[in-house]
Amino acid sequence: MDFALSEEQKMFRDTLRDFVNKEIRPVAQEWEASGRYPTEIVEGMKQLGLFGLTVPEEYGGLGVDMVSFALVFEEISKGWMGIAGILGSHSLACWMINKHGTEEQKARLLPDLAAGRRRTGIGLTEPGAGTDLQGISTTARLEGDHYIVNGSKTWITNARYADPLPVLVKTDPTAEPAHKGMSVLLVDAGTPGFTVSRDLPKLGYKGTESCEITLENVRVPKENLLGGVEGRGMQQVLGGLEVGRINVAARSLGIAQASYDEALGYAAQREAFGKPIHDFQAVQLKIAEMAIKVQASRLLVYWAAAQADAGHRVDMEAGMAKTFASEAAMECALTSMQVHGGYGYSKEFVVERLFRDAPLMSIGEGTNDIMRTVIAKALTSGKGTIG
Ligand SMILES: Cc1cc2nc3c(=O)[nH]c(=O)nc-3n(C[C@H](O)[C@H](O)[C@H](O)COP(=O)(O)OP(=O)(O)OC[C@H]3O[C@@H](n4cnc5c(N)ncnc54)[C@H](O)[C@@H]3O)c2cc1C
Repeated sequence: MDFALSEEQKMFRDTLRDFVNKEIRPVAQEWEASGRYPTEIVEGMKQLGLFGLTVPEEYGGLGVDMVSFALVFEEISKGWMGIAGILGSHSLACWMINKHGTEEQKARLLPDLAAGRRRTGIGLTEPGAGTDLQGISTTARLEGDHYIVNGSKTWITNARYADPLPVLVKTDPTAEPAHKGMSVLLVDAGTPGFTVSRDLPKLGYKGTESCEITLENVRVPKENLLGGVEGRGMQQVLGGLEVGRINVAARSLGIAQASYDEALGYAAQREAFGKPIHDFQAVQLKIAEMAIKVQASRLLVYWAAAQADAGHRVDMEAGMAKTFASEAAMECALTSMQVHGGYGYSKEFVVERLFRDAPLMSIGEGTNDIMRTVIAKALTSGKGTIG
């Protein structure tokens, strides 16, 4: 058994680490606090090809393996998790378009999306339905060669830059079960009636916008139905969420690692009673506890990613990695704050941001309670096993 990254993966990680250290870390505190959009960082990510992570090379993407994909989200989140949000739903949507799109859709969209000339996101959640996606009320009625879309979406990350935005709709609102009447439409930005109405105020996850969207008689050409066949939307989305969960698990790992790093550094230089605080056993216990959680998260995240690379479905594995790592991120951020004493509560210290960014990881791409039900379902049905 070899737990090491390949040489290629190590080189990729080092390139990312260098980028994060030079382009993200120095500005993260200030730009996060001011709410400024990180345009220069987006340009840097374009140069590195990161908008093409899940786009095959034939369309100009990097087409990276899932372990390398996880490394991107881990390394960026060590610097500033909000930046990872710019790539997260973009990568998920690119994956969906590549996996389920028609040849025409792939040729039309993927080269521009891979280069970051166009960007995207994913529009699933509505004011009245998040976990229960079959309960959405956005409808799309076919009229000639256009769908007429009406409804609203909320919490949509990257909404102001997404073009197109894949939107989950009901093409047959009477279907039973409901998922058989659901489809994904690729809605072009600027289509009349498609309005990004409001940026939602939030605890953390700054740098990336999360918005409400209204759709009022939006005319979407028939050729923008993902895959060209109605009724496949839920299945298309669920496959994408598997990739999305590896991304969120890896972001959690990045936050947990950064929390540990901050605590370790601080405990070495802060003195109390004439010695560095890392000489006190109570602080040592906190450092050890964080290190255990970080390393266990890392093993789960890379394991889930490696299973995906081996061609398996990874609902259970990605669910385990996301649940464990996101809870480790919250615990490590809090512990790190405690190691920092009063300074941990200050906006001038990184750990305050880590503490605000961590909780989203237990919500996004399916809440941890839902992850636990997915894991249990896999185990009790015999589709998933451990040991
Ligand atoms: C910052 C941010 C960014 C986001 N970005 C996007 C995005 O880009 N695109 C997008 O589509 N969505 C996005 N979301 C939405 C996110 O995916 C949802 O918030 C999430 O799926 C939960 O849905 P909900 O908020 O409607 O909660 P609900 O579904 O109302 O859940 C509320 C509570 O009930 C529990 N619950 C619900 N059903 C069950 C059940 N069957 N069994 C057990 N417990 C249950 C949940 O676990 C949770 O604790 C984002 C959210 C945030 C906060």
